[in-house]
Amino acid sequence: MKFASVILDIPTQSLECAYTYAVPEELISGTEGVGALVGCAVLAGFGHRRAVGFVMEVFDELPDHTLDPAKIKPIECVLSKPYFDAEGAACAQWLADHYIAPLASCVRLFTPPGGVPRVVKQRSGGWRLEEPAIGEVDDRWVVPGPAFFDFEPRKGAIKQVMVLEALAAGGDVRAAELAAEFGGIASTLAALEKKGAITIEHRRRMRGMDTPAAGASSEFVPTQKPTLTCGQADALAAINEAANRESGEVVVVDGVTGSGKTEVYLQAIEHVLDQGKTALVLVPEISLTPQTVGRFRGRFGDTVAVMHSRMSAGERYDQWDFIRSGQARVVVGARSALFTPLANVGLIVIDEEHEGSYKQDSAPRYHARDVAIWMAKRRGAAVVLGSATPALESLYACQTRDDWHQVSLPERANKKPLPEICVVDMAAEFGSGSRSMFSGALTRALAEELSQGHKAVLLLNQRGFAKFLLCRDCGFVPTCPSCSTSLTYHEQGNYLTCHHCGYKTSVPARCPECGSPYLKKFGAGTQRVEAELRALLDSLAGVGPEVPIIRMDADTTAAKGAHQRLLEEFGAARAAVLLGTQMIAKGLDFEDVTVVGVINADTQLHLPDYRANERTFDLIEQVAGRAGRADLDGRVFVQTYEADAVAIRAAATYDRDRFMASEMTKRQMVGYPPFVRMANVLLWGNSEREVREYAQALQAELERVVAASPEARISVLPAVPCVLAKLRNTYRYHILVKAAPDVDISAVLLPFFRQRKVHESVNVAVDIDPEDLL
Ligand code: ADP
Ligand code: ZN
Ligand code: ZN
Repeated sequence: MKFASVILDIPTQSLECAYTYAVPEELISGTEGVGALVGCAVLAGFGHRRAVGFVMEVFDELPDHTLDPAKIKPIECVLSKPYFDAEGAACAQWLADHYIAPLASCVRLFTPPGGVPRVVKQRSGGWRLEEPAIGEVDDRWVVPGPAFFDFEPRKGAIKQVMVLEALAAGGDVRAAELAAEFGGIASTLAALEKKGAITIEHRRRMRGMDTPAAGASSEFVPTQKPTLTCGQADALAAINEAANRESGEVVVVDGVTGSGKTEVYLQAIEHVLDQGKTALVLVPEISLTPQTVGRFRGRFGDTVAVMHSRMSAGERYDQWDFIRSGQARVVVGARSALFTPLANVGLIVIDEEHEGSYKQDSAPRYHARDVAIWMAKRRGAAVVLGSATPALESLYACQTRDDWHQVSLPERANKKPLPEICVVDMAAEFGSGSRSMFSGALTRALAEELSQGHKAVLLLNQRGFAKFLLCRDCGFVPTCPSCSTSLTYHEQGNYLTCHHCGYKTSVPARCPECGSPYLKKFGAGTQRVEAELRALLDSLAGVGPEVPIIRMDADTTAAKGAHQRLLEEFGAARAAVLLGTQMIAKGLDFEDVTVVGVINADTQLHLPDYRANERTFDLIEQVAGRAGRADLDGRVFVQTYEADAVAIRAAATYDRDRFMASEMTKRQMVGYPPFVRMANVLLWGNSEREVREYAQALQAELERVVAASPEARISVLPAVPCVLAKLRNTYRYHILVKAAPDVDISAVLLPFFRQRKVHESVNVAVDIDPEDLL
C-alpha cells in the first residue's frame, strides 16, 4: 500500500497541515508510477464532506506510525495532471514555514491561472465537482489534404470552391475564420475532408499572442548583439562564472540608468540556454510593457513565455501550459512567475531588485528575491540582481558574504553623462514670498524646454497616506524622541504619534524651532497638482493650452491597457508634460525628455518607515534617469523642504557611498535591517477594543515564547496601532519582533503560531522581513 500526504484546499484562518491518505492501486497509472501523483489535484473525503486537495508527497509506508492504517481514507480520484513536482512541493513547504503562512496558500501559488477543480455544495445538500472555467482552447485548422491539387469540386458547390481558393491563396486557415467569412461550412468541410482535399488539424492556440499589445511573437524584430562595453563584458563574465559554478551564487549588477543592464541579462541568458538550461526574468509589474517583452523576444523569439497580471486568465493559462510543455526556454514575468513550472532553471534575473513590489502583501508574504535565492541554491542556478539603486541589504551582503558578488556599470552605454541634478530649497522659495508648488527654477526650465518642443516628466511623490506636520518657514518636522522617524499627524484628536513605540504628543501651535505659525499638514493629490500645473503652463509664453498634461496615477491607469495608452500618447505628442506618481519613475525611455522635476522629494522622508531615506534616494536617482537619455541634454530639479537631508544631497551628486555610510550608521544604531531581522505581527478586526486587547495578550505570549529561547536574542516590542490605524473599517495593530541578523526568526516563532488557537474576531498575520511597517 502507498500513502500520500495531501494538503486540502479548504479556506481556513488557521495554519493547517497536510493529511495522510491511502493511494488505491488503480490510481497508480501506467509506467509513470506513484511519483507522478505529486502535484496532482485529487478528490478525498474529509469529515463528512469531500474536498479537493493537492498531493505533496508519496510514501511506500505509513509516514506516521501513530496512525491506524485501517482508519486511513483512500484518495477517491485524480482530478488533474501534476501542477508541480517534488521541487515545487518542497518550495511550498519552505514558504509556509519560512513566512509562517497557511500551507494551502503557498501551494496555491503553483496552480495554473484560471483556477483548479472545486467541490461546490449544492442546495439539495449534496455536492458537485466544478472544473475550472479556464482551460486550453483547441482550434481547428484547415490545411491542404493529399488530394488537394487533384480534387475537382462539383458544379455549383460554391462553398467548396471558396474554401479551396482560400487555402490556395493564403495557406492554412482556421475553421473559425472560414465560418466567419462564408457562414455555415461544417458540411462543406466534412465533404472535402472525406475526399482528401483538406485535412482538419487541431492546433493549440495561445490567447493574446495574436495582438501586438502582447508583444506578439509574429511581430518581433530580431535584434543584433551589440559589442559589449568593458563594464558589460565584466558583468557578463562574473554572471557566467557564477552560473558555471552551479552553487546558487548571487551577482548584483549595479548599473546606472541606461548603462545597458538588459543587454547583459540577454547574453547571460544565452549562455545558460547554450548549456541546455532555462532562464527566468522577473520585472516589476509596471515595467512589463510590450517594449520590455519585445527586447527578449527580439533575441529568443517564440521560446519566450510572458506572465503578468494585466493579461487575461486565458492568456495566462496558455502561457503557463506553454511553460509546462517544456517549449518555453525563457520566462519573463512579474513576481508570481517564480512559481510557473519551468524546469531546469540555470539563471534567475531580478531586474529593479530594490523594488518594494517584489514583496507580496498578502499571505504568503514572500519576497521574490529571497525565494529566488532559495530556489537557486537548491537547483544550482545563479541569481542576477540588477538595479541602478540596489537595496542596501543587497550591497551589504556583497560586502560581507562570499557567495554574493557586485559588478558595476558606472556609465551609460551611449556615453552620455548622467543629467545634472539641482536641489531647490522650497523653504527658501516660501521665505521669498512664493506660494506656488512649482519653484522659479523649474518654471523657467519648463518654459524654455516646452516652447522648443521638448518634454517634461514631473513626479508627485505620493507614497504615504500618512500625514505629517511641516514648518513652511524652516522645514522642521516633529520626530519621535526615541525613534529616528517622524511623527504621524492624526486628524481625529489632533495629535502626533510615533508608530514604532507609541509616543504621543499634541500638535504644537507654533514651530518649536523657529516659532513660525505656518505649520502645514502635508499631502496633496495629483488632481490638484494637475490643476495648478495647467494654470501655470497656460500662463507661460510659448507654451499655453495646446501643451497637454498627461496624468498617470492609480485613477487614470485603472483600466486595462490605460498605462500603455497614456505612455504612447506622451510619446506621440510634440511638447507635453507627464505628471505622475511613483509609477513614472522608472523604465520610461523617451528621447526628447529634457526636464525632470520632483515636486516634493521629501514627503517620503517623513513616513514612519525605516526605509524612508533609502526610498527617497532611490526615487531621485531613478527619476533623474528619465532625462537626457539620447542626444538632448537633460536637467533635473528636486524640490524639497529638506535641502540638507543626506538622502537628497547624496542623490543629487550620485554619491551612493556617502548615502550608504550615513544610512548604515543610523540603521545600526537604531536596530534595523540588515543589522537586525524583523517579524511584524499584524492584527486586524472590526472592534478596536478587541483588537487592542488581543494584541496585548499576544504580545505577552510572544514575550514568553522569546524568553524560552534566550540564545536566539529576540526582543518583542510593545503592541501599537499601525500607521494605517483604520483601514476599510477594520482596526489595525502590530507587534514588531526583532532578532540578531543571523537568527532564524521564523523557526522560533513558527511552533507558537502553528499551535495558536484562532481568535474568533481578530485576524492575525505574520510578516517576516517586512517591506514596510505601515
Ligand atoms: P538599463 O537597463 O541599464 O537602464 P538598457 O539596457 O535599457 O539600460 O540600455 C540603454 C540603451 O543602451 C538601450 O537603448 C540599449 O539598446 C543600448 N545599449 C546597451 N548596450 C549597448 C552596447 N554595448 N552598445 C551600444 N548600445 C547599447
Ligand atoms: Zn519652523
Ligand atoms: Zn518612537
